[in-house]
Amino acid sequence: MTKYVFVTGGVVSGLGKGITASSLAMLLKARGYKVFMQKFDPYFNIDPGTMNPIQHGEVFVTKDGCETDLDLGHYERFIDEELNYTSNITSGKIYSSVIEKERHGDYLGATVQLVPHITNEIKNKVYEAGITSNADIVITEIGGTVGDIESQAFIETLRQIQYEKGAYETCFVHTTLIPYIYGSNELKTKPTQNSVKDLQNMGIRPNFLVCRTPFSTSDSIKEKLSLFCNVPRENIIDCVDAKNIYEVPLNMHKQGIDELVLKQFNLPVNKINLKDWENLIITMDNLTDEIEIALVGKYVELHDAYLSVAESLRHAGYKYKRKININWINSESLEKDNINLNEVFKNSQGIIVPGGFGNRGIEGKIKAINYARVNNIPFLGICLGMQLSVIEFARNVCNLEDANSTEFNPLCKNPIIDLMSDQKTVINMGGTLRLGNYNCKIKKNTLAYNDYKTDEIKERHRHRYEFNNKYMKLLEQHGMVFSGINEESNLVEIVEIPKHKHFIACQFHPEFKSRPTRCHPLFDSFIHASIKNK
Ligand code: GLN
Repeated sequence: MTKYVFVTGGVVSGLGKGITASSLAMLLKARGYKVFMQKFDPYFNIDPGTMNPIQHGEVFVTKDGCETDLDLGHYERFIDEELNYTSNITSGKIYSSVIEKERHGDYLGATVQLVPHITNEIKNKVYEAGITSNADIVITEIGGTVGDIESQAFIETLRQIQYEKGAYETCFVHTTLIPYIYGSNELKTKPTQNSVKDLQNMGIRPNFLVCRTPFSTSDSIKEKLSLFCNVPRENIIDCVDAKNIYEVPLNMHKQGIDELVLKQFNLPVNKINLKDWENLIITMDNLTDEIEIALVGKYVELHDAYLSVAESLRHAGYKYKRKININWINSESLEKDNINLNEVFKNSQGIIVPGGFGNRGIEGKIKAINYARVNNIPFLGICLGMQLSVIEFARNVCNLEDANSTEFNPLCKNPIIDLMSDQKTVINMGGTLRLGNYNCKIKKNTLAYNDYKTDEIKERHRHRYEFNNKYMKLLEQHGMVFSGINEESNLVEIVEIPKHKHFIACQFHPEFKSRPTRCHPLFDSFIHASIKNK
């Protein structure tokens, strides 16, 4: 029988609810349980795929091609399980499916209402995650803050689930803030008391409080919280600001949360195995050297827009005991005529150009790629970064001056990057990219083969445009190697330049598969080459 943990948030957003949920899941997995994770987002977009990354951060893509909230990236990195379409549910998805059923006549003449129709739809999504994953424990995070108008249907559904399943099958973890007031020099519990009252008003009694706080809370504060919030004292867990998010599970474990949750579920408290994770923290605390990597993108003012890329760089850094300093470079700033690229990249030992959409900043990225290629600086291009790498190569090595992507210039004479034929008739922008896992066959004796050590891989995609095979011969004649191909559709997946110290670019997104204890092969070799480039 699957058990359900629900993680809600109180007082303010941005408390690290996703990290709390992931940490608990990771601990329960380390206790030998099969865990699965899910996030509810109260907004009305069907998914975040059409949202501006500056507003919402990166879009994380699951192996089955769902465009999801970036918290799912944390989930996968913490629990090392691949999630799927049941893992990210928005109000948009719930309402559109209810309306579709209404039009189809599925409600047999009933008046369609928030309760029970919307709440049943949400409930089914929770149970579907349990059934399809066959997990012992499903952890569901509710986006937003308790009290938000938008999340009320979700909270009401959780109340019904708590009633339906009872205390041994459901567990409520409320993450909240204990602010510190300078002057009176005290930690304050009132905001937490109020947010628990909000939850109770909606019929939910939390079983655990995870308190984000700058300092550990005293016994007297815990007693006060326990008394006012109806939560046992030992179930009040401090979440003191950590140096690194990967420390959070160990901090929570020290306070016994995993054991207490299992006891509440009447499940055996198996021995825990945290060896790999503890070693990871030791590594992170003992990074011997630093290395700077330039990341050239157009959403750099919000680092979360490149969350998985930045994490992947750090993971590879852990392997080589290096702290990664990211030199965030706005690609538009490189477009100025008088820009001194030697100055911009002065301390950068490697250059990465990640994914992106639209015209803005494109020429700046091409300049950065040209700089990396001409100056023999280790380079990794991802998705748009690959498309621009071949455009740069076509323009400056093969003398196709007007080479471009039809995304930026639909009428260009040399469309090195073009729409796939099945994309030409697409009208809707949402959910219609080439998404999720596709096979890639890797040529022997290439950098890619050396990285992956196998000739068959699967990687996750999120793009609409493709390399135009008409130009393959020409680029090959000038020294570019097409080292990864999707054979089913004959699409280019990886390109590289063997004459260069380390120049590789891929059409897929390797960053979604990197793990803190097992970095991705492409990031591994990129960081390795960058370290050597001193
Ligand atoms: N804009 C490009 C495309 O749609 C690249 C997308 C990306 O980098 N994720 O193909």
